[in-house]
Amino acid sequence: MTTPPEVQLHESQKSQYRAMLAVALDEARMGHAEGGIPVGAALFTQDGKLISRGHNRRVQEDDPSVHGETDAFRRAGRQTSYRDLIMVTTLAPCWYCSGLVRQFRIGTLVVGESRNFQGGLDWLREHGIRVVDLDSQECVDLLTGYIEEHPEVWNEDIGELPESWPES
Ligand SMILES: [Zn+2]
Repeated sequence: MTTPPEVQLHESQKSQYRAMLAVALDEARMGHAEGGIPVGAALFTQDGKLISRGHNRRVQEDDPSVHGETDAFRRAGRQTSYRDLIMVTTLAPCWYCSGLVRQFRIGTLVVGESRNFQGGLDWLREHGIRVVDLDSQECVDLLTGYIEEHPEVWNEDIGELPESWPES
């Protein structure tokens, strides 16, 4: 299956998505200030109404299941449909969170960056999720700094522990 082309955006939509990303980035910074992994996320309606926001709390709560996306998702409570919602996250989602996006058929996924981690972006595109990558330097820099300081926590978060995984 070939990957659909990148979504082309009008400037006005791009600036709306950037404003949404600013909320996720704010969450990422809050997480960082708490001593955690700086990944944040938020859920919005199409017209820009904030439903929920959250950040990775692996370190803070000793809970590997609390990623930025899952935190925002759980704080949104029950929603009848996710098709018209926008999940915004500072980093491309891991397999776990990509599964969440697909399982609940979240219509649009906006990511701050996919340079530090590509996650499931291609897989989501192949399955009809509208994926927008804003390639934000701020998001890249925040996480790059963290990975340099805490490579072991980062590897734990993405499930890449060299000693426990066979070479591919
Ligand atoms: Zn995740």
